[in-house]
Amino acid sequence: MGTLQHPVLQYRWQVKETNAGAQLVYFGLRNPPNHTGNIIPLPRELADRLQLLDGRTAAKDLPSDLTDHEMYARLIEEAIIVEAHEIRQPSTRDNFQQCVRCVTNDYVLPGLEFDANGLCAFCQCYELAERSGQGAIMQDGITDEDLIRTSSENTGSRFDVMVLYTGGKDSTYLLWYLAKKLRLRVLVASWNMPYTNDTCRENMRRAMRVLPDVEFVERTLP
Ligand SMILES: [Zn+2]
Repeated sequence: MGTLQHPVLQYRWQVKETNAGAQLVYFGLRNPPNHTGNIIPLPRELADRLQLLDGRTAAKDLPSDLTDHEMYARLIEEAIIVEAHEIRQPSTRDNFQQCVRCVTNDYVLPGLEFDANGLCAFCQCYELAERSGQGAIMQDGITDEDLIRTSSENTGSRFDVMVLYTGGKDSTYLLWYLAKKLRLRVLVASWNMPYTNDTCRENMRRAMRVLPDVEFVERTLP
């Protein structure tokens, strides 16, 4: 390739060392068809070399085992490696991109990508699902019978469903409905964070008392 003058990793792409080896990770949501490709396994030698992309070093001064690497061309093609002046800046409260259709924006969801028309990655995935026939489930919804049947077929897990629980009235009702009314095996996941008010905390404590068979997990955010 070698078409870039000062190559650099695009905003929110980072090389990470994990138990599974080195990976290139995108902190955000990519446009389809790359929306499931947030993690790209890296060969060891390439992971080290990518650290050299600082946006100041000219491409011609980079080692050829990087610029000649087969993955290097692919990363440029996917705009994961870009020209230094093309690197996106973090959005701010006063300067962000809002989806032309829905309420999401890249300030609340950093790294959310948009297509050329300003449609966010979520809305693009929605359209894809509709076209592929998965839309039926979105149009008709999932019935109680669907859930109960899925539960009865589910022998490989301790849980049938997970509820992301805030302690607000919507998720509290959903939790009660799934656990008590439909008798599904519910895993409740919630965040302990500064924005959780006392009413929600009290609702969570009451839900635990009222639903002793339901398993709750909580993660604390700084
Ligand atoms: Zn959208």
